[in-house]
Amino acid sequence: MKLPIIFSVDDDPGVLKALARDLKSKYYKEYRIFSTPSVIEALATLLELKNMGETVALFISDQRMPEMDGVDFLTSTIDYYPDARRILLTAYADTDAAVKAINLASVDYYFVKPWDPAREKLYPLLDDLLEDWKGNYQPSFSGIKVIGAQYSPQACAVKSFLTSYLVPFLYLDSEDEEAKQLLTLNNLGPRDLPVLIYEDGFVAAAPTLLEMAAKIGLHPAPQWEVYDVVIIGAGPAGLAAAVYGASEGLKTLMIEAKTPGGQAGASSRIENYLGFPAGLSGYDLTRRALTQARRFGAEMLSPCKVRGITVKDGYKLLTLDDGATVTARSVVVTTGVEYRQLDTPGIAELRCAGVYYGASSSEASSHSGKPVYIVGGGNSAGQSAMYLSKYAEKVHIIIRKPDLSSTMSTYLTEQIRNVDNIVIIPNAEVKSARGVRRLESLVIEYSDTGVSETVEAAALYIFIGARPYTDWLDNVVIKDEKGFIETGPTLVRRRDFTKFWKEKREPYLLETSCPGIFAAGDVHAGAMARVASAVGEGALSINLAHKYLAH
Ligand SMILES: Cc1cc2nc3c(=O)[nH]c(=O)nc-3n(C[C@H](O)[C@H](O)[C@H](O)COP(=O)(O)OP(=O)(O)OC[C@H]3O[C@@H](n4cnc5c(N)ncnc54)[C@H](O)[C@@H]3O)c2cc1C
Repeated sequence: MKLPIIFSVDDDPGVLKALARDLKSKYYKEYRIFSTPSVIEALATLLELKNMGETVALFISDQRMPEMDGVDFLTSTIDYYPDARRILLTAYADTDAAVKAINLASVDYYFVKPWDPAREKLYPLLDDLLEDWKGNYQPSFSGIKVIGAQYSPQACAVKSFLTSYLVPFLYLDSEDEEAKQLLTLNNLGPRDLPVLIYEDGFVAAAPTLLEMAAKIGLHPAPQWEVYDVVIIGAGPAGLAAAVYGASEGLKTLMIEAKTPGGQAGASSRIENYLGFPAGLSGYDLTRRALTQARRFGAEMLSPCKVRGITVKDGYKLLTLDDGATVTARSVVVTTGVEYRQLDTPGIAELRCAGVYYGASSSEASSHSGKPVYIVGGGNSAGQSAMYLSKYAEKVHIIIRKPDLSSTMSTYLTEQIRNVDNIVIIPNAEVKSARGVRRLESLVIEYSDTGVSETVEAAALYIFIGARPYTDWLDNVVIKDEKGFIETGPTLVRRRDFTKFWKEKREPYLLETSCPGIFAAGDVHAGAMARVASAVGEGALSINLAHKYLAH
């Protein structure tokens, strides 16, 4: 933790030096001593310090200075640090002004120069003021601060991004006092939200994800001209491929369009992953896997989307969304699936303003004590209900079927049954979502009675199945009618196999119709759609890429 600051200003270099020396010799263990001869510089530094989350305990300022007098300076420090203590340093002739300042401005004390001996004339006074200040002192957060408006989709995107990249941050609602103060000091208003204030004091108004990524050290340029293996997607399959690829000495690059973890990253508790009898959260799994991949030397580009692949002389040229290209000798596609959209009136308009696709753990606490709805009856909906039930007043799961038996694992239905504030609404559908700035209510229709009703809703989480992220692979690999990538034996069974497959060997188990391009995890046809199978296939894909590269 950084020490609080004693900040002194005096345009006379001799006095400033003597003051800094006396302050340091007594207070250096508990405080940092900052001093400057310029009030203008002092005010500029104060803004930086405030943005960096630093704390000033005490200001000491000379009264007679050319740029601004001491009383005015000390008064302006109140905007930055209202709780700090303030002392005016005066010549004997200015004692009247000093007394007035104590009465009218927020000056706690004055002392007359010179103050020798310090142990008699200076330290007792400062000790007293600093002890008093310490009584209310709470260290402020010095990491990234995010200021956003509640239910703003942009603020929601920023929070999810930082959460997924394991970056700690403090979220301040724009109506909070501290947020208002920071916005005013930085001359920012509602139109600039969300605002990010980084640890080094840099302030960014409504930054793009790419700008944020650059600032927190993500998305560096690729190091190599040609990689042995490029992995597209950093879900469980991609992360496993990165760990195995890099640990086996391959030049490995992983490219992720959004945030690492994929669907699993959104899971509040994965209970069926081997070796974790108490379950683990998707966040934890991602954090561990990402650390492991980096430790073995896997590179990562993110957020960065792969737009297409062309093949030339066996090399795979990947086009990225910023127009850059990356060359690889082999590719593993682990782009998984994305949620289907619910095509119901009001849903699109309220997305991220109460309506969410998949789990959004960064928003859960804002629904405390309020009614929350979930659409979908699969395992992901069940897990989300369990997680949200810790915050919400009640979690309602809306399903079209009469019960969950055919869609959700038995262990989850058992858990849900034992939670008092989760209720199942069977034979039902959401007909519309309503709200002005955020979701306020839902219209639900019951198929067995034909009746519909309007219910109050703080949030709606949608889990209605998924489709593969493979549009960008048109004409590169063969896909099934739903867009999942066909691999290995499935390809061999195709009637047109000899038309597209020209190698002397058969395709390897996870190899696509394009030699040297592999598909692992949920994106390939017939996938088991589980974390364990995605991880296993990610590892296997590297073994197969090795075989391919060896020939
Ligand atoms: C809420 C929830 C809970 C779940 N709980 C469990 C559970 O308890 N147990 C279990 O076994 N399974 C669970 N699953 C299923 C499991 O998470 C998935 O089977 C698994 O994540 C699939 O991993 P994947 O790597 O194949 O794909 P994904 O996890 O879908 O990851 C794909 C990644 O590729 C990225 N990407 C896509 N296109 C591109 C592109 N063009 N360029 C770059 N990157 C791209 C995506 O952004 C994404 O990060 C759950 C799923 C959800 C949604």
